[in-house]
Amino acid sequence: MAREVNERVLEVARTFGELVPSESSLLTFVCECTRTQCYERVELTAAEFEEAHAADDRYVLLPSHDLAPDETEVLRAERYLVVSRPD
Ligand SMILES: [Zn+2]
Repeated sequence: MAREVNERVLEVARTFGELVPSESSLLTFVCECTRTQCYERVELTAAEFEEAHAADDRYVLLPSHDLAPDETEVLRAERYLVVSRPD
């Protein structure tokens, strides 16, 4: 699951925090869209990612990737898109 992978990315980035110069540094996450073979990269800062994942039904997508029919757009930024996806 891309969501778990991304949580781990953030955890690892935090663990090696001294390698991350500032909160404005972009971290590389994977797109969490519903395409099964989507492993494309989406870049967010740690703060943006935490905000995006603040609720359990929120997912981070590349802005160019399609929303599933049951997904609702929550936030559209230049680099990423946040959607709400019901269980
Ligand atoms: Zn995607």
